[in-house]
Amino acid sequence: SDSAMYQVKDAGRNHYTYFAPHMNQLAADRYAMVSELRGAAERDEFLLNFQPIIGMASGRIEAMEVLLRWQHPQRGLVPPMQFIPLAETSGLIVPIGEWVIRAACAQIRAWRAAGLQVPPLAINLSAIQVHHKTLVERIAAILREMEVGAGALEFEITEGSLMNKTDEVVSTLRRLCGLGVRLAIDDFGTGYSSLSYLKRLPVDTLKIDRSFVMDIRSDAEDAAIVGAVISMARSLKLKVIAEGVETPYQLEFLRALGCDQYQGFLASKPLSAIDAARRLTQRVPDDTPA
Ligand code: C2E
Ligand code: MG
Ligand code: MG
Ligand code: MG
Repeated sequence: SDSAMYQVKDAGRNHYTYFAPHMNQLAADRYAMVSELRGAAERDEFLLNFQPIIGMASGRIEAMEVLLRWQHPQRGLVPPMQFIPLAETSGLIVPIGEWVIRAACAQIRAWRAAGLQVPPLAINLSAIQVHHKTLVERIAAILREMEVGAGALEFEITEGSLMNKTDEVVSTLRRLCGLGVRLAIDDFGTGYSSLSYLKRLPVDTLKIDRSFVMDIRSDAEDAAIVGAVISMARSLKLKVIAEGVETPYQLEFLRALGCDQYQGFLASKPLSAIDAARRLTQRVPDDTPA
């Protein structure tokens, strides 16, 4: 009966949905979160963090990765690992992803207006976005509307999202590249892309996944994988970024192998816009970790 059911308010559309009692709390909670995600952009609950990407040779901030944050009025700061998958399965990642691109462009404009030299911002694209028919047109429209120039943006696509419908993906990435933005393969090493496939893609950069960097010191196999990825990238003329660098040992190991750039808590955690601007104004003295 109705009384044996419980209600979850769908905040986005302002109606109630009923769950049978056997539906577990986790499923109900996920459902509620999707409803809340739907109106989050309009309610101004999203914000961007920026994590510096440091040049090995220059010791300076050469790019910043844009990382989405959801400041929920009751749940607090919801980590992307919790809401991005829900945004993906619900399709909400498409409008949310557009919000991210537009907000990143708005930030670039604001920083430039304040006199800052803004390095390229790297924006994550999920597989759903990459497979969405109008992705390239939407990005082109945002670039025109926001007038930041294509060189201001890079896009990160996870290795895993390159796996299905490969011909379509190749064509999408070529058109994206044709806009003048740069492309990186994120979480590299966790998927199964072949060398011949990589050669067909118009990518500039590989980002080595944090899981390999993490155990460089203790795990000889991970160290060997990292070494192999870096030498492969160099022979394919690709730039390599190591993510998740937390220790000086990892940094020196990667530097010795010829890694181009790195990102990680050793240099900086993801920063609020205000802190990122502060870092950019102190670029020369403050970029290298102590
Ligand atoms: P990712 O793109 O691989 O981003 C790197 C993640 O590693 C970030 O987590 C960052 O905070 C974290 N990280 C960076 N350096 C270190 C380190 O030294 N140690 C450790 N332990 N972690 C480090 P975050 O911000 O929680 O984001 C997680 C994932 O969520 C991202 O992984 C990305 O896949 C996804 N994501 C974040 N923002 C967006 C977005 O705007 N759109 C999409 N589609 N996905 C996003
Ligand atoms: Mg990324
Ligand atoms: Mg990554
Ligand atoms: Mg990663």
